[in-house]
Amino acid sequence: MRRPKLGQHFLTNSSAALRIVDAAGLSASDQALEIGPGKGALTTEIFKRAGKTVVIEKDDALALRLGRIFPNASRFLVFNRDFLDFDLASLGDKKFVVLSNLPYAVGTAILQKLLAWPNWDKGVFMLQKEVALRVAASAGADYGILSLSVFLRAEAEILFDVGPESFSPRPEVWSSVIRLKRREKNILSSAEEDVFYRVAKAAFGQRRKMALNLIAEAFGVSRAEMERHFEDLGLDFKSRAENISPQNYLKLSRALSAS
Ligand code: SAM
Repeated sequence: MRRPKLGQHFLTNSSAALRIVDAAGLSASDQALEIGPGKGALTTEIFKRAGKTVVIEKDDALALRLGRIFPNASRFLVFNRDFLDFDLASLGDKKFVVLSNLPYAVGTAILQKLLAWPNWDKGVFMLQKEVALRVAASAGADYGILSLSVFLRAEAEILFDVGPESFSPRPEVWSSVIRLKRREKNILSSAEEDVFYRVAKAAFGQRRKMALNLIAEAFGVSRAEMERHFEDLGLDFKSRAENISPQNYLKLSRALSAS
């Protein structure tokens, strides 16, 4: 029986499954982590390529079934758990390649939890197309706090789209596959990150207004002072949140942290 809350739209298009797993570039020296393996559409291909495959599946019956399909305990480990409650530190220090056809309802929550976890270097994810566009955007209407929070930790690229006919049951929306390459080091210190989010929240909080005024107000600095910061970065004083590149949000945060 389908459990809509668990976002159980199973991938039935085997060539899409192959493309997703190929995009992760797995080899025998890799350990893979799959979130929400379901009936194993991706798992079968992952298991062929990776040295070790760890899967986390919330649905009891599906987790049990996977344990039977892949009984090789030294190369395959199934956790019947909710990923959002799972203690990732228990997986050890060796880096993972992460793959998932993410359940729609908790896709961004899962992504945020992954971004906070340092032990992965690459990930290939299928998401609702509208969410994938927001994750990978660096300007325009889809660009926002989600894009910037991903940018701080990873480089994102959209690879291809997958239509509703590729799933059973059919979802109402299109999906997109994205690849994330985790940054080896954080680009901002944690104090600068706090400033980065304050800047981004102020600007995107009222995305139709001029970011300069919104940021000046949020930081309690004069318009003249904020104009100097914008001028230093070559930013138009009339820029709105969605016209400021991620790199310029970084630079603004560093400047405001230093001042
Ligand atoms: N990977 C399979 C595929 O591509 O056909 C299934 C994908 S389906 C969109 C999402 C899967 O994630 C389901 O098997 C569902 O039971 C599981 N799931 C949903 N929420 C989860 C959570 N919080 N933690 C772990 N698994 C979850």
